[in-house]
Amino acid sequence: AKAAGRNTFRFFSPDMQDVLDQIAMLETDLRHALVRRELLLHYQPIVNGDGSLAGVEALMRWQHPRRGLVYPGAFISQAEKSGLIVEFGEWALETACEQLVAWSRDAATEPLTIAVNVSARQFRQPEFTQRVLHILERTGANPRRLKLELTESMLLTDVDDLIRKMSQLKERGVGFSLDDFGTGYSSLSYLKKLPLDQLKIDRSFVQDMLLTPHASSIVRTIVSLAQSMGLQVVAEGVETAEQWAALRKIGCATFQGYLFGKPAAVEDIAAQFILRGEH
Ligand code: C2E
Ligand code: CA
Ligand code: CA
Ligand code: CA
Repeated sequence: AKAAGRNTFRFFSPDMQDVLDQIAMLETDLRHALVRRELLLHYQPIVNGDGSLAGVEALMRWQHPRRGLVYPGAFISQAEKSGLIVEFGEWALETACEQLVAWSRDAATEPLTIAVNVSARQFRQPEFTQRVLHILERTGANPRRLKLELTESMLLTDVDDLIRKMSQLKERGVGFSLDDFGTGYSSLSYLKKLPLDQLKIDRSFVQDMLLTPHASSIVRTIVSLAQSMGLQVVAEGVETAEQWAALRKIGCATFQGYLFGKPAAVEDIAAQFILRGEH
């Protein structure tokens, strides 16, 4: 009918069938990604106030045979839905731990920490603690150099279970960071109960802090909250020297963002270490 004009949403229009086909194809491809060794990690620098390297965050990528390099935004939610994220996450943890061991052999890279993202679904596995400890054992990685990044979405489920698992791993030296802080649901009473080491201020606040007083006061509040709780605070998404300066002024001591380096393959990140070491 001619009424089905521009503004009418029609189910299964040719375009939409395309999208559905693409999702189905992605899902099938995603199932094979691990065995076909198409997953890889990129590493992004995390720096101290003087710009020296404190560590890196491991970020997953998918080298698709036809699409090229695929970023998490295009496949992580699908991996969450299908449950594949559990295996993917474990692969990331193991790969990052192997990298830690390789770096620990060199005095220049030995003290670096690696932060690894853990999905809520992965953390909820009853045997999560054992799996992490196994990986540490198998690879010989130093648990004190490993940081697990959790999100506030984990607080939506069994908090006692969360605390128990975190404590077990913390006993072995593993650190914990609360990612994307300020965007989720954490109440301050929970925050106090969690054995955290670090808060990561979400990129959205950092990007707006010089534009709106609102974002700036949120950043200030998170920094002083972290300080009063004895937590380290990392500002994410720092892109300009002005943002970096403003964050330092507020008392933030650790930073991550394109200003210091984009996520890169291990060979390229190694070149950055050497470069920084020479200064
Ligand atoms: P995240 O954990 O918040 O990671 C930071 C994201 O911000 C990364 O996107 C990084 O490339 C990007 N970023 C860093 N600095 C800047 C900056 O200065 N400006 C801008 N515009 N962006 C910046 P990426 O690599 O696309 O990852 C997106 C998300 O995917 C991650 O957000 C994380 O939630 C998820 N993810 C990545 N790897 C893994 C993984 O191994 N496991 C799980 N469960 N999730 C992962
Ligand atoms: Ca993260
Ligand atoms: Ca984040
Ligand atoms: Ca994020």
